[in-house]
Amino acid sequence: MLLKDKTAVITGAGRGIGRSIAEVLASEGARIAVCEISSELGEETCSIIKNKGGEACSFGVDVRNAVAVQNVIDKIIDKYGGIDILVNNAGVTRDNLILRMKDEDWDFVLDTNLKGTFYFTRSVLKPMMKNRSGAIINVASVIGITGNAGQSNYSASKAGVIGLTKSTAKEVASRGIRVNAVAPGFIETDMTRKLDETVREKIMEKIPLGVMGMPEDVANTVLFLASDKAKYVTGQVIVIDGGMVM
Ligand code: NAP
Repeated sequence: MLLKDKTAVITGAGRGIGRSIAEVLASEGARIAVCEISSELGEETCSIIKNKGGEACSFGVDVRNAVAVQNVIDKIIDKYGGIDILVNNAGVTRDNLILRMKDEDWDFVLDTNLKGTFYFTRSVLKPMMKNRSGAIINVASVIGITGNAGQSNYSASKAGVIGLTKSTAKEVASRGIRVNAVAPGFIETDMTRKLDETVREKIMEKIPLGVMGMPEDVANTVLFLASDKAKYVTGQVIVIDGGMVM
């Protein structure tokens, strides 16, 4: 087992990619702390893991609330004694052309995707520094690398996550903490199911491997980065997109 006796905190693990990451990390022996805005979905993820013999606990939290984030991290440390892995996965979209972009849609996406990642990272670093070890994996997006018309808020948030990943990696490498990002392309989840058929067809034309990715494609890369198999990897962005961006 790659993650035996490790504790992993995963945000937005109530469905989609986050739930898959929780299941894959649990299958390799990690205790999972599901941090999810919807307590019901968080509990569902925990039940799936427990039914397969794994260990998981759900914590209701909005990643945009710094005080709530710190409280949850304190509770997880009280319960499990430390945190070895953090996966910043919670993310949202509010698409529009920049000329029509409302302030609240800009703030909602930046606050969730970028500020939420900052809050969780800041809160886990103290306990990780104390242990002189840790792995942080941030879920960015290929859109943070290429940009996309209609997604200025989302691409700015994900480009920000990539910058945050690299700066944090440089700050904490000497304390034995690795910080990396994954940049998924088009993955089959609720987030992409809401795209209309013509948009989907256009995207498919750009994917050399010819299929959409599955949540477990992202989860397996996160597993690698979380484990000691990646002990010499930090500050990197691994693209998981069927060859779309190369
Ligand atoms: P999803 O199916 O929409 O799931 C997102 C999860 O995050 C949901 O469980 C959601 O909870 C939770 N969440 C949203 N806001 C939150 C908040 N403020 N606090 C705590 N949890 C919150 O999305 P996904 O497709 O799995 O995406 C997961 C990550 O991958 C995101 O960061 C996304 O940007 C990134 N990504 C996805 C794709 C893709 O093709 N799907 C591609 C590139 C990157 P609720 O269910 O209660 O809303």
